[in-house]
Amino acid sequence: LDHMADGVIITGERGHVRLLNAAAARLLGTDEERALGRPFAEVAPYYPLIELWKACRDEGVEQVETVEVSPQGLFLQAIVTPFSQAGAESYLVILQDLTRIRRLETVRRDFISNISHELRTPLAGLRALVDTLRGGAIEDQPAARRFLERMDVEVDALAQMVEELLELSRIESGQAPLRLVPTPVADVVIPPVERLRPQAERAGLQIELDVAPEIPDAGPALPPRAPHVLADADRARLVLTNLVHNAVKFTPPGGRITVAARPAAGEVIFSVADTGVGIPAADLPRIFERFYKADRARSGGGTGLGLAIAKHIVQGHGGRIWAESVVGQGSTFYFTLRSAGEG
Ligand code: ADP
Repeated sequence: LDHMADGVIITGERGHVRLLNAAAARLLGTDEERALGRPFAEVAPYYPLIELWKACRDEGVEQVETVEVSPQGLFLQAIVTPFSQAGAESYLVILQDLTRIRRLETVRRDFISNISHELRTPLAGLRALVDTLRGGAIEDQPAARRFLERMDVEVDALAQMVEELLELSRIESGQAPLRLVPTPVADVVIPPVERLRPQAERAGLQIELDVAPEIPDAGPALPPRAPHVLADADRARLVLTNLVHNAVKFTPPGGRITVAARPAAGEVIFSVADTGVGIPAADLPRIFERFYKADRARSGGGTGLGLAIAKHIVQGHGGRIWAESVVGQGSTFYFTLRSAGEG
């Protein structure tokens, strides 16, 4: 009984506790010594549980119910069964802890409601554009072309979101195991920066690479002494892409983005600093959650998945990811990858 995950209590006819296993003691916040011989209502001072026990006694048949035990916030499935022991009526109370399952259900429900919400926005945009075209705008060549371009943007947003959801689900289900191999830091940092440079420049931003300053002439052509990290290069580049992409999105024209990599004890610390809008302190701990957006209006086409994906990838590498920010001055995102020695 003491090795069971379910709580087990046996009471006599008048409700005195005759037996209580370790799981029941833990769920009810008591111990055997305090509970034995005490009335059930004292040992389990929760109205729904007491009522269930009474119903079983009065009706003489098994009772099952899910009860919430506050303030601990426990969800228990309680089963009370009558039986005869040495000629006397007894009651077997089984308590199954559903708290974890309940929490998973909540996460799943929130997730579905978030996805639906996120899908609705681009779909509503498309709907409106289609309706306008059908309502006559299709005859107006310049307007029709403009509408088509906007539809393109909405379709891209939907496609990106589906892509990110798939990536997240692949990572979470372990279907895409990381292949960690010694990778030059430059291979992680430079391709994403160069790919996003045109977009940054169009947005009026300067983007700088600052890699291992102790090594002279660091830059796009890193010297061979540059450190290596243990990484799945594609995935590590995706982390940097997501961070730099955010820096571009959340920094007003005239700003600067600095991407750096610094060797530290046994690891390399990557950072992406911007001079952008910053993140309120209250939002900082939450931005790595799926779908979380600190400022919905500003995030525009963002899905709120980029940082969740980055976090999963970094943690899959055994690294850490975090952010610092001052509203109005900018944000710096950091992540670490394990060092693979010198190249
Ligand atoms: P998305 O950018 O698609 O909204 P992310 O998961 O990448 O989703 O980011 C979540 C939120 O974190 C963003 O909506 C934004 O509020 C905040 N954020 C991320 N990066 C930055 C940044 N560099 N500057 C300011 N806010 C940021």
